[in-house]
Amino acid sequence: MTKTEESSQVTVLGLGTMGSAIAKAFLNHGYRTMVWNRTASKADALVEAGARTAATAADAAAASPLVVVCVLDGGAVEDVLSSVGTAVEGKVLVNVTSGSAGQARGNERWANERGAEYLDGKIMGDPPDVGTGNIMFPFSGSRNAYEAHESALKSLGGIAYHGEDAGVAAVEFMAQVALSYELLIGYLHVLELVRAEGIDVVDFAGRAAGTVAMLPPLLQSMGAAVKSGNYRPDLGSLDVQAALMDDMISHRESLGVEAVRMREVKELMDRRIAGGHGGQGFSSLFELVTKP
Ligand code: NAP
Repeated sequence: MTKTEESSQVTVLGLGTMGSAIAKAFLNHGYRTMVWNRTASKADALVEAGARTAATAADAAAASPLVVVCVLDGGAVEDVLSSVGTAVEGKVLVNVTSGSAGQARGNERWANERGAEYLDGKIMGDPPDVGTGNIMFPFSGSRNAYEAHESALKSLGGIAYHGEDAGVAAVEFMAQVALSYELLIGYLHVLELVRAEGIDVVDFAGRAAGTVAMLPPLLQSMGAAVKSGNYRPDLGSLDVQAALMDDMISHRESLGVEAVRMREVKELMDRRIAGGHGGQGFSSLFELVTKP
């Protein structure tokens, strides 16, 4: 096999909904794709689409310089890797299974001990979006591995490299997902408040989308304030903002809408003001978010 032929070979281990979408994206981009799944029948549709399959995970891994693992969770990754064993020697192992930063670092050690380079990836998006611009894969780990296989990885959608620490892609994933959850649980409470006041929630959603579209500059300036510790009065001074909080809390309570988050904001503002920082902005609450 020539060098060019070899570098156009990819193996995908794990053919659930996401692993199958990943294998399909490689096929669509012209990669010779070797697939394996614990339940062998899940390879059938991909074989029909042009993939090859192997009897064991080790045989599948041995076929390509780039071996992508996408299974359910960390335990499943351990099972697959233990059956792959030394077949990863000389390969680049890319694990895109959800998991923690610690698991990623452990997988990297496992790979390095067997002569493989390791990249950890996480998936921010849904299977139908694989291969499009509507999905993002943050990667971290071996820079050599990332640079050598960047064009293959681009078949999957948007990709970004976050540095040599294999755990950082998981941190990026956890932080981005947490941001969505924190924002969206607050949004659900606001929708209940709006609905309880007899306002059409769909009309409101349109206006809310306009407000969220204005947030990016604020997110950036808050990041800069947290980094520098220079808290200008973003959203106004805390002294002024805090005066609103009792009204916001009592409005929610009068409608039977949960007010726990507003009470938390008020409590943080009160503590910051009591500490003599009432002239600073909302971003200064950052100083109080670490648990003692
Ligand atoms: P899935 O459809 O449930 O598939 C799970 C896969 O893991 C199957 O191939 C399954 O093999 C395999 N597996 C489970 N336990 C195993 C074990 N002990 N040994 C070997 N293989 C094992 O899940 P998925 O949607 O493809 O998700 C895969 C990964 O992508 C997960 O980490 C998930 O969090 C992540 N992800 C998924 C989505 C999504 O929307 N689906 C979005 C972002 C990220 P069998 O077929 O033999 O059971």
